[in-house]
Amino acid sequence: MGYQLKNVTVKYNEKIALNNISCAIEDGKWIAVIGKTGAGKSTFVQLLKGLVDFQGEYRLHNKPVKVSEKGKSPALQDIGYVFQYPEHQFFETTVYKELAFGLKLLGQSEKAIKASIFAMLAKVGLDETILTLAPFQLSGGQKRRVAIASILLMQPKLLILDEPTAGLDPISKLSILHFLKEWHLETKCTVLFVTHQMEDVAEYADEVIVMQGGELQGHLNTNQLFLQQSHILSTAGLKTPDHLRLLNIVEQLIGEKIAVANCKEQTIFTAVKPYLQFGRELDA
Ligand code: ADP
Repeated sequence: MGYQLKNVTVKYNEKIALNNISCAIEDGKWIAVIGKTGAGKSTFVQLLKGLVDFQGEYRLHNKPVKVSEKGKSPALQDIGYVFQYPEHQFFETTVYKELAFGLKLLGQSEKAIKASIFAMLAKVGLDETILTLAPFQLSGGQKRRVAIASILLMQPKLLILDEPTAGLDPISKLSILHFLKEWHLETKCTVLFVTHQMEDVAEYADEVIVMQGGELQGHLNTNQLFLQQSHILSTAGLKTPDHLRLLNIVEQLIGEKIAVANCKEQTIFTAVKPYLQFGRELDA
């Protein structure tokens, strides 16, 4: 099951954007897609949604996806795609109509649509009072929540998020990541998360796909990437998260490795804390 690519190449005119990519995406995982600008991340996720022509083999839940289907096959419709700055694509006059649009296309009754929208609002932390507002009256963070909620309402099996928190303040960003993670754990949907924020990768992802120059540089477990194979990050021109740099600095100072269970910020802070306190006592 899941999504398999075998020797897939994507070209824009004659320019190669993805070069002979092979990989398997398992169901139920939260996977970060990272790489410098131009590395091929957006093309990679657009390919999975069936939005670009390709050469090679793409199998979705064991069925081949044909180039000609371009987003039309029913299986591809199970993939929710949140574009960068999705609120730029709002086109309805009220938030309610914006949220109801996809469900109406599915032929759901007005009663069922209303119930789904109210349940979703609570999940994404929005107040019912916004439903009658025009989308442009919302704050940046509210707009992004509405845009993501409109995709979640379609109950995708695979959710693609192309830099879902770009341009948001840190508080809005954290609360959006938090509800996305809760939703992922609750529905067990697969998440492909394109991001430049390595801290978010270390915190949220189960696995990481590293892209560089249109090639797949690595597909590995998040802890393995940050704790054992961080050279892949520097080769791909990416930054090590600050808390893991702190771990490296403390390890250099004490001249030994510190055992840590995972690469999450809280785990690392707990592991280095005794050494930092020891240092302060020495200074005193
Ligand atoms: P990323 O998302 O990592 O920034 P992209 O997938 O957007 O990378 O781009 C990969 C390569 O394909 C880049 O060299 C980019 O310039 C090129 N590219 C992307 N979209 C198009 C397009 N519509 N037409 C021509 N070239 C494109």
